[in-house]
Amino acid sequence: MASPPWSIADVQETGATREGDAKGRHTTTSRSLHVLPAGGLLLDSPGLRELQLSDCAEGVASLFEEIEAVARSCRFNDCRHQGEAGCAVAAAAENDELDPRRLTNYLKLIAEQERAAETLVEKRRKDKNFGKMYKRVLNQKRKEKS
Ligand SMILES: [Zn+2]
Repeated sequence: MASPPWSIADVQETGATREGDAKGRHTTTSRSLHVLPAGGLLLDSPGLRELQLSDCAEGVASLFEEIEAVARSCRFNDCRHQGEAGCAVAAAAENDELDPRRLTNYLKLIAEQERAAETLVEKRRKDKNFGKMYKRVLNQKRKEKS
């Protein structure tokens, strides 16, 4: 791996931008995980145009195994670990059993996932509304013909 300035192009194939609109093209054909020199991980994945929520949940679960293990003891299945009664995560954090930095990152990722899920729900609702509108227009046209 090349040392600074390090570029993703050194390890991943990248494509030139299109002349017309200067937009990039997708070149990633398989999933790969990279450790960034400044710290942190980069997940490169094809088809990130639509977020794969199940993959994300799996990734968070495997990266934060120790927190997930504690979270299983929370009183409620849908505990968001935001000060709910009987939250095992909050209790473990208070007893210094969890790394506060990792816990912060974990909660951030969970919140991000929730936002992404909401975006997907919204998108599906719009698609459904579009489908209904399309049918209405088709029916209207049929009526006009007969
Ligand atoms: Zn909890």
